[in-house]
Amino acid sequence: LEDALRQAQKMEAIGRFAAGVAHDFNNILTVIFGYGGIMRMSDTLQDDMREKLDRILEAAERAGSLASTLLTFSRKQPIRLERLDLNRTVAGVESFLRRVIGNGIDLQVAAHPGPLPVLADKGNLEQVLMNLAANARDAMPRGGTLSIGTSRLIIDDAFVRCHGFGVPGEYVELWVSDTGVGMDPATCRQIFEPFFTTKKSNGTGLGLSIVYGLVQQHKGHIRVESEPERGTSFHILLPLAEEGRSFEPAEASQDRLPRG
Ligand code: ADP
Repeated sequence: LEDALRQAQKMEAIGRFAAGVAHDFNNILTVIFGYGGIMRMSDTLQDDMREKLDRILEAAERAGSLASTLLTFSRKQPIRLERLDLNRTVAGVESFLRRVIGNGIDLQVAAHPGPLPVLADKGNLEQVLMNLAANARDAMPRGGTLSIGTSRLIIDDAFVRCHGFGVPGEYVELWVSDTGVGMDPATCRQIFEPFFTTKKSNGTGLGLSIVYGLVQQHKGHIRVESEPERGTSFHILLPLAEEGRSFEPAEASQDRLPRG
């Protein structure tokens, strides 16, 4: 519990900082995109210059996606809960995930056959999947398999006693597994910390802390299993929404700290 509190306070401070940086960053990018776009349309631009300009604009795109990562992280926008079917959300991003992981990695989806209603923010769920898939890709530089699956799960008192986590109730489960490099236990313990990365200059260390924060906001649970050289699995549990009831989208709390 103390860990969770410390993490929440850290996230809060970093979140405020990140929002400020992202805001200034976006203003700078607007200038680069604006003038870059005008230059690109010029008839007198030589081909080699056009190529260099395209490189500049590509880098600016990446900077833009980093800025949006920072904004999500700082959670300035309130989450929008709606009734969703988890399988549909997964299916909706499948082709995008395929592009994220590239050709060398096989993607397998094992969808639970029945309905999986959750109250969730669609964009947030997509971001969770994207961050986990991007990490899986990085963990499999020589190829492998990324498996994404869904199921339903009932957590009862016996489960909590046996596994040492969870709150009794009915849940929808999302798991994301890879056959990548895996992690040792010491790494596993730190992965949800903001800015923890083993990727040197290529990593921000924000991906999983964002995932953690989003899962908390949805009153869910996340847990990781990993073995060096074998692979890693993330399991996310989200409370099952009551079945057969229509739901009006509602604004959730803007508070990004985990509760309870
Ligand atoms: P980043 O990807 O920028 O490093 P993350 O917060 O997404 O930041 O991940 C933190 C660290 O957790 C990674 O640097 C990596 O060491 C480890 N990690 C995350 N996902 C995996 C995975 N699927 N397999 C192996 N290691 C992982």
